[in-house]
Amino acid sequence: MAKYLAEHERKMQLTKEEFKNRLKRKLNDYYEEDIDTASTSELFAAISAIVRDGYAPQWRRTRIAETKQKEKQVYYFSIEFLPGTLLKSNLLNLGWLKTVREALSDLGLDLDKIAEYEPDMALGNGGLGRLAAAFMDSLASTGYTGNGNGIRYKYGLFKQKFVNGYQRELPNDWLKKEGHWEVRRESKSVLVRFGGKVNMVEDNGWLIPQYEGERVVRAVPYDVAVVGYQDGLTNTLRLWDAEIPPEEELNYPTISDRRRVEDLTSILYPDDSNYEGRLLRLKQEYFFVSAGLQSILDYYITKLGNKNFAQLSDYVAVHINDTHPAMAIAELMRLLVDEHRVDWDTAWNITQKVMSYTNHTIMAEAMEKWDVNMMSELLPRIMQIITEIDRRYCEGLKGRVSDAVIDRTRIIKNGQVQMAHLAIIGSHSVNGVAALHTQLLETEVLKDFYNLYPERFNNKTNGITLRRWLQIANPELSDLLDQTIGKEWRSDSNKMLNFEKYYHDTKVLNQLHEIKLDNKKKLAKFVKEQTGIEIDPTAIFDVQVKRMHAYKRQTLKLLHILKLYQDLKARIDHPKRVIIFGAKAAPSYVFAKQIIKVINETANMINNDPDIHGKLKVVFLENYNVSLAEKIIPAADISEQISTTTKEASGTSNMKLMANGALTVATMDGANIEIKDAVGEENIFTFGLNKDQVYKYYAEKSYHPRKMYEEDPVMKKAVDALIDGTVPNCSSEGQALVNNFLSDNEQFLVLADFEAYLKAQEKVEQTWAQKRIWQQMSLVNIAHSERFDSDKTIERYAQDIWHLKKLKIEKVDR
Ligand SMILES: *Cc1c(COP(=O)(O)O)cnc(C)c1O
Repeated sequence: MAKYLAEHERKMQLTKEEFKNRLKRKLNDYYEEDIDTASTSELFAAISAIVRDGYAPQWRRTRIAETKQKEKQVYYFSIEFLPGTLLKSNLLNLGWLKTVREALSDLGLDLDKIAEYEPDMALGNGGLGRLAAAFMDSLASTGYTGNGNGIRYKYGLFKQKFVNGYQRELPNDWLKKEGHWEVRRESKSVLVRFGGKVNMVEDNGWLIPQYEGERVVRAVPYDVAVVGYQDGLTNTLRLWDAEIPPEEELNYPTISDRRRVEDLTSILYPDDSNYEGRLLRLKQEYFFVSAGLQSILDYYITKLGNKNFAQLSDYVAVHINDTHPAMAIAELMRLLVDEHRVDWDTAWNITQKVMSYTNHTIMAEAMEKWDVNMMSELLPRIMQIITEIDRRYCEGLKGRVSDAVIDRTRIIKNGQVQMAHLAIIGSHSVNGVAALHTQLLETEVLKDFYNLYPERFNNKTNGITLRRWLQIANPELSDLLDQTIGKEWRSDSNKMLNFEKYYHDTKVLNQLHEIKLDNKKKLAKFVKEQTGIEIDPTAIFDVQVKRMHAYKRQTLKLLHILKLYQDLKARIDHPKRVIIFGAKAAPSYVFAKQIIKVINETANMINNDPDIHGKLKVVFLENYNVSLAEKIIPAADISEQISTTTKEASGTSNMKLMANGALTVATMDGANIEIKDAVGEENIFTFGLNKDQVYKYYAEKSYHPRKMYEEDPVMKKAVDALIDGTVPNCSSEGQALVNNFLSDNEQFLVLADFEAYLKAQEKVEQTWAQKRIWQQMSLVNIAHSERFDSDKTIERYAQDIWHLKKLKIEKVDR
């Protein structure tokens, strides 16, 4: 093993005194301030600079080791990354968190307050982007060289405000406060071409494209260090920004020409299945895919000294996270065939070996398709290549399978490019994100492909990083784990199973209760500051946090709330409960926004009704993001995971909440099923239609909710509250919801699960009354959350899909 460690670095173990000295020095150098006069932003800047100095040697060492050891690397292509804030996470992973917290405390400063200054890096909508960020952390922490490849959006996901109960979207100018964690790498810039015409001309027997009238954009990478836990690597998340190439200035004469280039990376589409700005979205997809692949091939040629592309898959794996980067398949073909003159068959062989693809949804409307005309105009050469891939695909299957199968699975159909089909055909691996989801891909949604290529399909259940969701978000619970099972769980999550040994330990069960209560008090204080609403920390904290979407069924929770309210008004008692929502709606998703308005009006009505003596409160916190999740999740008693069965591919907030000791109320959907398997059915509240019942409704078109509504007076009363004037100020939105609930074959089957959901909630109430049992269930959930550690998930990707070996790198004293 090479020794890259300089002697002085070995002595870098950070003590409190050393940290204080460095802080003094940085504040003096940067701002000529002392510790007691520095502002929060100055303190943040100084501390983040110390952190950067801390990881810089390991970042360099990782890069050197990569080029020396030449191990295979994975490049994770994702249009979204949602890391949240990085200060505490970087401190934790450096092994400095405790030292720095204590040193600041000695100085009368509070790390948490300073950390609040950092804006969330919110380059994603929800679960998909969060997963990408978790995987980055886990790759570095488990010792694999994994590189992220994405877009440096100038504005992250919009900032949500409520005005009169309606969602308003404000720009999230996260870069206005300097990007403290990024490094602009101008020398690694590449050019990306759009539009124009291509003519194929012959050159020494090779057809090469000649471009005419195309627009050239410069892609400039900004690298963010991904600091692995303790002895891990420091990997790179590369985010691309679009600029005008200096040599092309004359081709962009007007302000609006220039603006168009800036726009390329200016906003993150706040919509998974967007309808607007499709052309710009297509541009973004090609932009980061092309830039990423060019930089990979540059590295392969210059750093690894390899010109033999036949071996590319021994060194490079490219992962396509959902279909947004699926053009990587055509772009790699273009680079290999056009630029490096590899023959088509060889290039195709290489491409399939390099590429792998994760599917994230089974909902047809979220499956990406692009107009052939749009693509031909914007990316003429890519469209030619996709056409040729499609032609060969059909040709290859002719006579082997029915024409109907070819027709159903081909890439270009009805004037559209089916991105999922391109991704599957061009990859060696296709995975779903939970057992049920993968099974549904194989037997329903991608059945034809599964019959053609069964060996490509595999499951990789999603995971979460326990470092962020336990060690950072819930230090009290982490300390309790240390005191009971020892500290090894922090680097080896298997050890968490030992926590089950305390199942009958009254002292530990009481401590769990105290910790939860403490976290709930902190959240109550935050809620009071943010909303003015008083909530009682001894009430059940019932949490549903996730994007606002019909399939996630915040509506079912709403009907439960109305039922509880009506009971309380009629003097039917229930344990005190606080329902907490966090959710953004995509700006173009009208129905989701109507749900937000109705929930806000319902909350307003309930929170201000003296009749119910504060027994029920509803809090909808604005601007749900990773930082807010870190506040809410440790304080949750109940985790609402109530999607229509078959619709939630995996879910990950279900995992975060269980790790923090919340009990799950769950449909048998996505990873909820695996949570049930892990904790046992006596430690979870399950309810609702199973997958066969759901598919039966769909197949027979036999769901007639109006009949249910008319026959069930409890349901009718709860639904009617939305239109009979009970819930004020939202008659049109309330009506829209009711129309939806009652429409024939309403696809998310809200009313079909209503009664079962109420029963599950009654069981919640009964269990709540038995404190000891509740704590025991909570303990089992915490212990078994180890199953969803993203370090384990990433090991499976590394073994089964990417075939990676760990990089050997020296342990560092910091
Ligand atoms: C984990 C997470 C999600 C995903 O939540 P699901 O319930 O799995 O959809 C979305 N947004 C944020 C901010 C998260 O941290």
